[in-house]
Parts: sequence; C-alpha cells; structure tokens
Amino acid sequence: MIPLQLKIDPLPIVEPLVVRLVLNPSIKSPSDAILVARGDGTADFDVGGFSLRVHTNDPASLDGDVVLVIPGRRTLHRLIRASSPHNTLLITEQCDQLCVMCSQPPKQYHTDMFDQFLDAVRLAPVDATIGLSGGEPLLHKKRLFEFLVKAQNHRPDLRFHILTNGQHLLAEDEAHLRYLDMTSILWGIPIYAAEGEIHDRIVGKVGAFSILQENLARLGRTGAAIELRTVVMQSNIDHLERLGEYITLNQPFAQVWAIMQLENIGYARMNWTKEFSDTSLSFEGVSQAINISLGKGLATALYNFPLCSVPEAYRRYCVASISDWKQKFLATCENCSLKSKCTGFFEWYPEERGFKKIIAQ
Ligand code: SF4
Repeated sequence: MIPLQLKIDPLPIVEPLVVRLVLNPSIKSPSDAILVARGDGTADFDVGGFSLRVHTNDPASLDGDVVLVIPGRRTLHRLIRASSPHNTLLITEQCDQLCVMCSQPPKQYHTDMFDQFLDAVRLAPVDATIGLSGGEPLLHKKRLFEFLVKAQNHRPDLRFHILTNGQHLLAEDEAHLRYLDMTSILWGIPIYAAEGEIHDRIVGKVGAFSILQENLARLGRTGAAIELRTVVMQSNIDHLERLGEYITLNQPFAQVWAIMQLENIGYARMNWTKEFSDTSLSFEGVSQAINISLGKGLATALYNFPLCSVPEAYRRYCVASISDWKQKFLATCENCSLKSKCTGFFEWYPEERGFKKIIAQ
C-alpha cells in the first residue's frame, strides 16, 4: 500500500504549512520545498531556510507532491500526489446520514481546513482532478462554495469531483451554484433504491429519498453534471432493475450511473455478512440494471468489480477504480492475463469471506 502519511522530524511552526516537495526545480515557486540533502532513509527539503526532514527511502516518489505539515506533529500528509489520478481532500468527517456501508463512519467534530486545501489545489499538477469528500462536504457549504470559487479563479484547468449525499441544498443555494463553473465539477451522489423506504433504511435517515429527489432536480436546473452512485448490497440487489427504470425515467440530469461493489471497511465491515452480495455467483441483479440503463442511453460503469467476477459481456463497463494506494491483487491473480486491466481488490478485502469465484483468465 502506498503511504499517505510519512514520518518527519517536527518543524518549528505554529500554523499548518502546505508546500510542494520538489527534487529538481526548473522554476521555483515560493511554496516549493527543494530537496537539499539525502541521508540513509531520510530526505531534507528546504522550507524557507528551515530543513524539513522526511523519513523515506524513495525521495523521487515524492517529487511534485503537495503535503501538509501540522504544528507539533511527526507526520506529514500527502494531500496531492503528483503521480496519482486518485487525489481526494477529506472536507469533513461529519455526516447526517448513517449508511449501512459507510467506509468513513462519521465523527462529531470538524476542523476547517479549507484554507490549507486552497493552498494545496493551487499547487496541484496541471489539469488534475481533485476529489472532495467526507463525511458530508455540504454540511459546510458556505465555506465549500467560497473554496470552489477561489480555486476555480486560481486554477481554471482543474476539475473537481464532489461526493455528497444530496441532502443540504436549499433554493437560495442555486445562485451560489450558478456562480461556479459547473462544467468542471462532477457531483457524485448516492442513490440506493427507487423505493424511498429502502433508500432511507440504507442511509439511516427518514425522508432522505424525498430530499434527494428535490436536490437532484435543483442541481440539474443549475447545469450540474451528476454521477449517480449505487453500492450493490443484499438490501438492494433485487431492486436494481427498478432503480435503473426510475433513474432513466425520472433523473434526466444524470450523466452516468456508477454501480459499485462493497468496500470492506467502516460500517461495511461490521455489516459485511448481512450486506455483501456475491456478484461472482449471481450477477443477474446487476446485469438487469445495466440492460435497462444502457437501453435508455444512460452511460453506466461498474466500480470495484474484479473482472473475472463479471460475465464477459459486461466486462467492458468495468472501471479500474480502486485507488492505487489501497489496491491489492491475490495470489490467484499472478498469472492472469487480465491483471493489467483489472481493478483488483481493496487492501482490506477479506478473501475468505469475499467473492467465491475469482479465477485467473
Ligand atoms: S484473477 Fe485477479 S487479476 Fe484476474 S480478473 Fe480475477 S481478480 Fe482480476
């Protein structure tokens, strides 16, 4: 697994610091920390005359990374890895829903890091896509909108992918949304069933489906590009075909439907036995959903499905989606001809309780 935090020697700072680690600068920006010395398992970067010592055997792998150093801490956070297409900023760990499969269970407290995140995106690689997730980022929508306006002003080349539960927009927010460049934002919004009662049960919030419908329409009216996201579980596998019908009939603003396999972490780990649906044994619920959505012209993609678990006719819809820092393959995969195209497994995937039919191709 690629480390997202690295050990450092503490810096004498009183405010959080965001810098870009650079090995060989052609042009130096004031926010660049230049590599000045390598030791045995360490690399020293110059930060305005101070030395930031990072404990690493591979300084080259950090070249161009945008990192956050918090006063008094002995670790740095790699906020944006220059070599990765999977960079996500965790806006908050607060959330008003309690989804049965939540990979990032909510916490009560929030630390506002928007200023640091703005510093970070200003240093991001050209044309990068930055994910903004939580928790629920729109619980802090005033700050989020301010952040987006400034980020888009400074870096019009960047794209953002905002993951939101679609519960926190009001009529007056439409003006804020119209102020944004919506062409560079993809709004990823979960929907788990067409039946309100099932969706509400999965997200742990009565009335959530009804609010979601209002806010999908609200986003659509402002020109938002919407990616609807559905995690496949035992709770909804038999309802996916109906969901496909509902989306294609009632959600004209949806640009893509992402159907995802479960990640064994957070609440999903606690609820794994009850909710994991082994689609390597029975893919019918998913294939029915795909047939409906594609038949109606809605782009549809499968996330987190190992290729051999999917019937051949549907493999073309699989995306290699598991982020590089949490991806693994099994011993079975070693000689598989599909490995280079396959998403593999989450680092924490429980092989003994996972897919029954994983077979090298
Ligand atoms: S055997 Fe492994 S690499 Fe091959 S398709 Fe299956 S999961 Fe992917």
